[in-house]
Parts: sequence; C-alpha cells; structure tokens
Amino acid sequence: MNRDERPISFWLAGVRPNPEPPLRGRATADVAIVGGGFTGLWTAIRLLETQPDLRVVVLEMETVGFGASGRNGGFCEASLTHGLANGLRHFPDELDILEREGVENLRALVEFTRTNGIDCDLEPTGMLTVADQPYQVDEFQAWAEESARHGEPLEFLDREAIRAAVHSPLWQAGLRGAPERTVILDPAKLCHGLKRVALERGARVHERTRVTGVERMPGGVVVRTGQGEVRAAHVVVATSAYSGWLRRLSALFVPVYDYVLVSEPLTPAQRASIGWRGREGMSDANNQFHYFRLTADDRILWGGYDAVYHVGNGVGSQFDRRPATFAKLEAHFRAAFPQLADLRFPDRWGGAIDTTTRFTVTFGQTLGGRLTYALGYTGLGVGASRWAAGIVRDFILRPDSDLLRLRFVRTRPFPFPPEPLRYLAVQAVRHELDRADRNAGRRSLLLRTLDALGIGFDS
Ligand SMILES: Cc1cc2nc3c(=O)[nH]c(=O)nc-3n(C[C@H](O)[C@H](O)[C@H](O)COP(=O)(O)OP(=O)(O)OC[C@H]3O[C@@H](n4cnc5c(N)ncnc54)[C@H](O)[C@@H]3O)c2cc1C
Repeated sequence: MNRDERPISFWLAGVRPNPEPPLRGRATADVAIVGGGFTGLWTAIRLLETQPDLRVVVLEMETVGFGASGRNGGFCEASLTHGLANGLRHFPDELDILEREGVENLRALVEFTRTNGIDCDLEPTGMLTVADQPYQVDEFQAWAEESARHGEPLEFLDREAIRAAVHSPLWQAGLRGAPERTVILDPAKLCHGLKRVALERGARVHERTRVTGVERMPGGVVVRTGQGEVRAAHVVVATSAYSGWLRRLSALFVPVYDYVLVSEPLTPAQRASIGWRGREGMSDANNQFHYFRLTADDRILWGGYDAVYHVGNGVGSQFDRRPATFAKLEAHFRAAFPQLADLRFPDRWGGAIDTTTRFTVTFGQTLGGRLTYALGYTGLGVGASRWAAGIVRDFILRPDSDLLRLRFVRTRPFPFPPEPLRYLAVQAVRHELDRADRNAGRRSLLLRTLDALGIGFDS
C-alpha cells in the first residue's frame, strides 16, 4: 500500500467503516444533524435519550469519524473550558459550575461506553504535564497551589521525580492530574461505537451525503444535499472546522491544522527504556506544545507543535500531510527520547481544529431558532462534545434548562477579522507565541494586548 492509500489516521485504520447508504431523494425528520463526528453523533443520542420517538437523521459528507473525531490524540478530558487557566480567564463567575459539569460529563461518558459495550481502549490514566524550560518550574509550583484552590488537585513532581516517572533528559518538573479528569482512548473506536448506538436507538445515518445548504420553510427547514433533501423541524450544524459551507459561521472560527505521528509498536527493551508505567496522557507546557501518549498496543503517539492556518479558512485533503511538520515533530521526539533514536513512525497525518478566540465551544441559533450550531472546541472536544450535545438537545427540547442561561452558552467569542487581515493576524500571533517560547515565556506587547482583550490563538 503506498502512503496515499493508507487510511487517514492510525485510528481510522483500526475500524471497519461499514458506511450507511447516502441519502437519495426526499426525507422528513424532526431533527436533521449535519456532521457525523462526536458532536453530531452525541447530539443524536442525547436527543433520543430525552425523546425516544424523535425522528433523527445524521448526514455525513464522507464517513463517520472522517473529521477531527477520527484523527485526534484521544485525550478525553473533563475540562469544558480548554483547561482551568482559560476558564478562569473567561468565565471566573461560572467556573465552579463548569468544572462540576465537566467532571460529571467525563464520568457519564466513561459509564456510557461501559453500559453500551463500546470497546474504545479507554484507560483512566490521568494527565502528566511536563516543564522542559527552567522558568516553567516555578510556574508549575504556583499553578499546583492555584488549581487546588479551584478543586483540581495537581501533584507537583520535581526534576528527579518526573524523570523517574518518564525517562527523558528534557524534563525539569511535572504536574500530575487525576484520572477523574483525563482518560485516554481510541477516538475512532469511540466514534464508531456512538454510530452503532445511535442506529440502535432509531437514528438514521446517511454517509457520503454532503449538505450544500439550508433554507427556512414554513414550520421548519429544508436541508439540501447533493442528491436529495431533508425537510425537518430543526437542523443541527455539527461540522466543526469544516463549517465554511455555512457562511454565517465563518467569523466564529478558524480551521487550524494540527499534525500527529504514531510509531511502530515498541519492543520490550524500548518499552522498558522510557519508564512511563502510569501510561499517562502527556504534554509539555509551551505555547507551541507537544502532546504524547501510548496506544493500547504500546506505540507512541506524538503530535502538536505546529498549528497551521490556510488562507480563506482552508480545509481539504491537500493539507492532511505536511512533510516539513512531520520532520520537525520527529526531531523533537528524538530530543525528548534519545534512547528511541531508531524508532520509526509509519503513521502520520493532520486534521483541522475548530479554533475560536476564547478556545471553548460556542453555541448559537439562527433561522428563527430552527438551526442550532455547536463548534469551536479548539483541540479539546473529545470529552466536551458530549456535554455540548446535551446543550444542543436542551436548545431543541428543553428550552427551560438552567444551563442555557450560562454566559458560557449564551455569549459568542470575539470574531476573527475578514481576509486578508485574518491570515495576517493569525501569522503574527503565531510568530509572537513562538518568540515567547524562545524567550522564557515573556509575552510581547501584542500578546499582552490580546490577553487584555480576552483574545487568543491556540490549538
Ligand atoms: C490532530 C488533532 C488532534 C486533536 N487532539 C485532541 C485530543 O487529544 N483531545 C481532544 O479533546 N480533542 C482533540 N482534538 C479536537 C477534537 O478532535 C475535536 O474537538 C472533536 O473531534 C470535534 O468533533 P466534531 O464532531 O465537532 O467535529 P468533526 O469530528 O470534525 O466532525 C465534523 C464532521 O462534519 C462532516 N461535514 C463537514 N461538512 C459537511 C457537510 N457540508 N455535509 C455533511 N457533513 C459535513 C465532516 O466530514 C466531519 O465528519 C484534536 C483535533 C485534531 C485535528
């Protein structure tokens, strides 16, 4: 098999897609959902949990899990706010509620996989964040104290302790988070498990069905596809970084390409040489950060660092492989784990992240309340998408829900400017973030100004 014929990601290679037929002709539904990733599938399931006789149709332009849901790192976290620090910055008044909701959401997600027989190699490992720069050590100590005050205990590991846990000459300190807040899993297996459950509960799923437009009609909407249409009372847009097809969403997000390597399985000697007995999900603490973890069969997944924006909210298969980023990631890996100098990385891919200026999922309704959208997880949607789907369900079936009154749900992030300013702004901020990483974390005037305005760029 040559490289281009390989499945998009290591994860998608491990599931049998078995696609449902495309939509042809006219259909009717109570709710049509556009997008067959975590957001779309959880929305179908949560709607049917609340109202089992609802007619729900999911329309996916490729096959389920084609987007970020089948390409991510598989870190499934409790945080709904893209981490506690970001939550404190944007939603200090609601943080206690959001933290409680997030922990409960992760607990319910794990339980759902168990009660529905979804085998997605889920491991409750917790998270280990490492400092690889001396200036970060004091920050880690301060952060351990601050986060404990907000009910998120983190264990501080000094240089000796972190290197004993995971053997790398780079680590200067570590912070260990609890398994109640991070599990690792195989995202494609989860996604395909959700599809099975959605079908079992009565949802219809049409794959290879691209939605081209939505229009208002009396009493609902018409959702047009290449070869047909669905007339529905409501439509849910769950198309994440691919939401450019709906022009009114384009100011809310930018698609940011993030890249991942997966190694061949480690030999017993290689496995022994790195420690990592806790199998934690890991990341470093730089602006341009790496995330890394073990797979169920003891490969290493190593991703992150570059966050690439293509002008005009560009997405497409031409961006899925980026040799320059792959080479950079591989070099960074070898610096972190010199004992694995010979380890090869046969699987490498990229995917688009739906980034907003405040890094959290954002919701809204248009077409007189007939269209509801949820997007913008900014690289932390594996867990949060289940919660967001509950919010979408509430918009449609439970408009009195208290959660709909949260500022987190009601308000929208600062918009991105139109092109060509958008491209220039993203490039400028990326440049400054890189500079800060090379300059002991010191943030430039531009970054400090954006911080003060509550605007950021991340993946
Ligand atoms: C490389 C990478 C690493 C990541 N790592 C992590 C991680 O470790 N942990 C974490 O929490 N998050 C991570 N994320 C983010 C996470 O994957 C996403 O937040 C999450 O999968 C979003 O799910 P979604 O269903 O909203 O979007 P998607 O999974 O992107 O689904 C959108 C779907 O809509 C379909 N679609 C688009 N347009 C149309 C149309 N017109 N008609 C019909 N269908 C359409 C697409 O084909 C796609 O399947 C990562 C993302 C990437 C790309």
